[in-house]
Amino acid sequence: MLEPNTSIKNIGKLSLTTTKRLNKLGINTVYDLLFYFPFKYEIFKKTSIKNLRPNTKVCVVAQIEIIQNKRSVHKKMNITEAILNDGTGKLKVVWFNQPFLGKILKAGDIISLAGKIELDFGGYLMASPIYEKINSGTPLHTQGIIPSYHLTEKLSQKQLRFLINKIIPLAKQIKDWLPSSIKQELKLLDLTEAIQKIHFPQNESDIKKARKRLSFDELFLIQIQAQLIRKNLDKYKAPTIPFAKKYVKNFVNSLPFRLTNSQRQTAWEIIQDMGKDKPMMRLLEGDVGSGKTIVAIIAMLNAVTSLKNNQVVIMVPTEILALQHYQTITSLLKNFNIKIALLTKSEKRLNSQEKKLSKKKILEIIKRGEAQIIIGTHTLIQEELEFKNLVLAIIDEQHRFGVKQRKLLIEKAGHKEMMPHMLSMTATPIPRSLALALYGDLDLSIISEMPKGRKKIITKVVPEEKRQAAYDFIKEQLKQGRQAFVICPLIDYSDKLGVKSVKEEYKKLREQIFPESNIAILHGRLKPKEKEEIMQNFLNKKIDILVSTSVVEVGVDVPNATIMIIEGAERFGLPQLHQFRGRVGRGEHQSYCFAFTNNKNEKTLKRLRAFEMYYDGFSLAKIDLKFRGPGEVYGTAQKGFPELKIANLFDYDLIKLAREQAIKIIKKDPNLANYPLLKAKIQSFP
Ligand code: ADP
Ligand code: MG
Repeated sequence: MLEPNTSIKNIGKLSLTTTKRLNKLGINTVYDLLFYFPFKYEIFKKTSIKNLRPNTKVCVVAQIEIIQNKRSVHKKMNITEAILNDGTGKLKVVWFNQPFLGKILKAGDIISLAGKIELDFGGYLMASPIYEKINSGTPLHTQGIIPSYHLTEKLSQKQLRFLINKIIPLAKQIKDWLPSSIKQELKLLDLTEAIQKIHFPQNESDIKKARKRLSFDELFLIQIQAQLIRKNLDKYKAPTIPFAKKYVKNFVNSLPFRLTNSQRQTAWEIIQDMGKDKPMMRLLEGDVGSGKTIVAIIAMLNAVTSLKNNQVVIMVPTEILALQHYQTITSLLKNFNIKIALLTKSEKRLNSQEKKLSKKKILEIIKRGEAQIIIGTHTLIQEELEFKNLVLAIIDEQHRFGVKQRKLLIEKAGHKEMMPHMLSMTATPIPRSLALALYGDLDLSIISEMPKGRKKIITKVVPEEKRQAAYDFIKEQLKQGRQAFVICPLIDYSDKLGVKSVKEEYKKLREQIFPESNIAILHGRLKPKEKEEIMQNFLNKKIDILVSTSVVEVGVDVPNATIMIIEGAERFGLPQLHQFRGRVGRGEHQSYCFAFTNNKNEKTLKRLRAFEMYYDGFSLAKIDLKFRGPGEVYGTAQKGFPELKIANLFDYDLIKLAREQAIKIIKKDPNLANYPLLKAKIQSFP
């Protein structure tokens, strides 16, 4: 018997390969599949052939009169041609390079097609429509409102729809954990109904209602969690950390630049918070490149020099960033005799020594208090790590971590009645009111200005025909000693998607475009040692051009790099493009960002134009959402945001409602004793 928490491999006839592909999307159980929401819908209205109009997307149900496979004139392409008849007229249909269609579809079959109607020598043509045979059951792929899901390679929309349709009856078994009083008050759908409707809506109003309920859930759970964390934290005391004025001043004076007023202000807010015996819960927000790291270093330095045995930890989302922080922090604090440790899955080190330590050894060093600043990735919360006297925990790029991971770090860090101070950092471009609504009662520090002397990064969307001109310009810049990033969407050559990969681009640039330059590759599948070496060489200018996947998206800081090239720019969301752009423009030289695209779609180009025009993350995020529609900012495109699956970050009204309801519930029943289902849900919430 299937139940919501049954593994998907038990769904009848699901092959191991398909199971693995679904796992790749994070779908492990029937439950996960039910909660794998579509990111958009297409509408195909059933239309008789005699009523067809050009340039409309429709569904046609008709009988196949003739179907045959052909080779195109140049013999390169296999074409399947069919003539369909529905009693009101005839329609020509073609498919390209799907020779097997001739075996699946036969003359006499009644099929349902969804696609666009085009003019073809006076008649109508449907090219490459989605098809399904009408044998039994309701059509899933071609009629009415059809959901689209984010996919992974070799998994099709049809497969996903088929599977979800198969298990959708199980939605009935999911217990609705939202208090009925809230449902009534806000007129929200029951959970089961919302799940059914988000996948298989009958009309637009179904989509709207389902989205509202499911978005509310997400926002409400975040709010409840934030309230609980805060409430819990209020019970604890925190170690007071007196202002280590001498050290901090000394450090600030040793910097090669002047702090901005914003940096001074925010650092001071943090120092003051840490001086109290209540745990700090502060979010430091500042756009990419605004200099958050220095503020964090000041906080760390203050904490470890104020009292001898103090420890601080900083958790970051990627190994590359951990290494970079390790190097930056070690070098900036070299005069202070502070012991600094690095702990990632594959790197364990102390005091910038080359020697790698064993996991056991580094855990021991931390436990004994011999490391004062500990820098690491998720590994920090996975390992059996114990601190001796942790007084400050920092999370960099906090939107890349789930609420649960943040909570785990806090718990790990706590000792008896004491909690360390917490500082989260993010470039998430949201205004104060919204940040408060989303993160609950966090205190907020905002860096609102860029370091002096930063020049605006000149940004250009470059169509294919201007590529060479852009390369010529870049060559000139490289000659002057500047360096460049090239971002590609993929690692390996992928014929199917026609998307540029790091490896082929590397080859092309090295052999044809910039033969005089030193070029290297960086991507997530390299060994950490290799990644570090490459980043180090890039930083030391031994590498001129770094061809990379989006692994350099967050945090990476190489001031002499002034050129950012993004291949297949249309594949990225505007906030993500903004993050990439933030990798340059960090030094004294004029920087440039080239967003290459061969996409001719008007809407896409308009969206990319916004990237040329706007330089603040918040505006870009808003515009992106407008162009892509809610829900579409899901999956890879959504990076740079809190981990929302379906809710819209700019739906202020719903956020406000969720917050009000959460506060009400927690006030009435802080332990959720009367809401066992909600309590269980919160405990399993990521
Ligand atoms: P982010 O806020 O994106 O994390 P970083 O902390 O990485 O930004 O800082 C970006 C770059 O700006 C770094 O190279 C850093 O050394 C430099 N920087 C930071 N503060 C200043 C400042 N006040 N003046 C000049 N450069 C600064
Ligand atoms: Mg940063």
